[in-house]
Amino acid sequence: MQANQLESSMPCNLCGGHHVEALSNRSRSGAALRTVICKDCGLVWSDPFPHDPRQFYADDYRLAYKQTYAPKAKHILRAGRVALERHAKIKHLLQQRRRVLDVGTGGGEFAYLIQSLGHELQGIEPNKGYGEYSAAQYGLNLQIGFIQDAALDDASFDLVTIWHVLEHTEDPSAVLGRLRGLLKPDGILVVEVPNVEAVCQSPASSFHEAHLFNFNANTLQRMGEKVGLTASEYRLSEDGGNLTMFFKPAEVRADSAALSGNADRIGAIVRGHTNLRHFMRAAPYLRFLKKLQRSIAERGLNQPVADSKALLDRLYREYRVL
Ligand SMILES: [Zn+2]
Repeated sequence: MQANQLESSMPCNLCGGHHVEALSNRSRSGAALRTVICKDCGLVWSDPFPHDPRQFYADDYRLAYKQTYAPKAKHILRAGRVALERHAKIKHLLQQRRRVLDVGTGGGEFAYLIQSLGHELQGIEPNKGYGEYSAAQYGLNLQIGFIQDAALDDASFDLVTIWHVLEHTEDPSAVLGRLRGLLKPDGILVVEVPNVEAVCQSPASSFHEAHLFNFNANTLQRMGEKVGLTASEYRLSEDGGNLTMFFKPAEVRADSAALSGNADRIGAIVRGHTNLRHFMRAAPYLRFLKKLQRSIAERGLNQPVADSKALLDRLYREYRVL
């Protein structure tokens, strides 16, 4: 792809710049979707936004993705296994009773696990269908709405988790700033987002309408520094697809010089991730086999579930987490 110098329709959410290049003009559905990268810092976003983010998540998101509000056993079990993986990433932070905020609670599987372990759990979820379902099924202490508007006390949480939510928000810097304010002085914020440097998916699947922003470790770390958070560590998933960063409160840092070269680095990775290279690797075939195994294992789990709490209790006990 030829480098394509453009002006963005909005300032860069990280550095305020306007100089961008197009990285892609198609979403994974094949529809037109312009994805740009800031030349100054390397932040990647959909420009212009393909939808009104608030409307999209409040009403349409679950319908657009799962076509139903009545979850099937296989969807709850999948989400329960993801919750177990997330718990494994943070369990070292839960050695005593904690006050935990989970932002974007979704179906409630992770929040329910944390609550079942005896921690004081607060959830927040913008989607009414998800929110009402999980509050009723699991008895979660939950607010339905957006984190920017939530009625929560400043400096009141030991641990805040935000799993695969930040990339969906229209103003991720403001969201991180709000979360910074909610942390106790010795609190920890755990942010997980897809890694824009990942090459585990096919090139055509890299960008889609739901993800307004795309990060690498440099842009996520720097966005934290801008609002008074310092990254104590980060981890990449085995396939490189997910980036998990642990932040602590710190002084606000204004210096963004560290990001020189970041746009070139990301641009080279994204443009170098061609179909030919992708399908020469073993990973896509292993991924396909994994999906096939999963669909065989999930035979008979296509029915809507009456008691999802009992299903999760059984799963969490099976893995000896409860
Ligand atoms: Zn920028």
